[in-house]
Amino acid sequence: MKYVGAHVSAVGGVENAPVNAHEIGAKAFALFTRNQRQWKSQPLKADSIRLFKERCEEYGYDPGCILPHDSYLINLGNPDAEGLRKSRDAFLDEMTRCEQLGLKMLNFHPGSHLGKMEVNACLSRIAESINITLAQTSGVCAVIENTAGQGSNLGYTFEQIAYIINEVEDKSRVGVCLDTAHTLAAGYDIKTPEGFTETFRHFDEVVGFSYLRGMHLNDSKKDLGSRVDRHESIGKGLMGLDTFRMIMTDPRFDNMPLILETPDEVFWPEEIQLLYKQLKS
Ligand SMILES: [Zn+2]
Ligand SMILES: [Zn+2]
Repeated sequence: MKYVGAHVSAVGGVENAPVNAHEIGAKAFALFTRNQRQWKSQPLKADSIRLFKERCEEYGYDPGCILPHDSYLINLGNPDAEGLRKSRDAFLDEMTRCEQLGLKMLNFHPGSHLGKMEVNACLSRIAESINITLAQTSGVCAVIENTAGQGSNLGYTFEQIAYIINEVEDKSRVGVCLDTAHTLAAGYDIKTPEGFTETFRHFDEVVGFSYLRGMHLNDSKKDLGSRVDRHESIGKGLMGLDTFRMIMTDPRFDNMPLILETPDEVFWPEEIQLLYKQLKS
């Protein structure tokens, strides 16, 4: 089964996310469980938690097809002690919220060295942040998203992701989410059938498909190896529909959330339909 959806709004409360997902015909969804641009946030209200669970059940969203995304402020590899402490506190809060909502995964960008740290030392620091957080929570898998490698962001090569996973103590609670736009921008050619085959052979060899917990389906405004993160609507960017057809028809991407983070949400219902159409073409 393919579970395609989008990163929907949770404005007004997390309980609105499953409704917003249902309205666009999504079979999966992503959400922020707190304001993604602020360090401080109010705890989830008991009513919000109850309604969120009820509505997910009502609309048929199993926790396995819900992929919450953490705040953009968090940098689990922060070279500065104060920034690292704030990031770890916020990440623990994010994980705890997922736990309260009965969710199984939390998707996050690994972190940035800010030009002040060696790459491997930063990757180890990210793994340490994950270990600290997993030790204080239960049931939620930390899902590392690959990045475009913009600025000093790490996690743009499969080797860097594997390096982090290797240092995570509980391998059952760490996973990976691949963003198609980031993958292309990072230098992996997923536009052609040959490139697609080779990229995912390489991913399987270095990281392993057993760690793949979800995908972000975004076309890209920037080309192969640009290291620039600019999403585009499906079929309107440099990737073309072929990449998405290959994903939709490949069983290695079954039974996991396939999430649109494309810029114009007006098109989400059409984009979801378009993706499901690829199954039959
Ligand atoms: Zn993404
Ligand atoms: Zn992105």
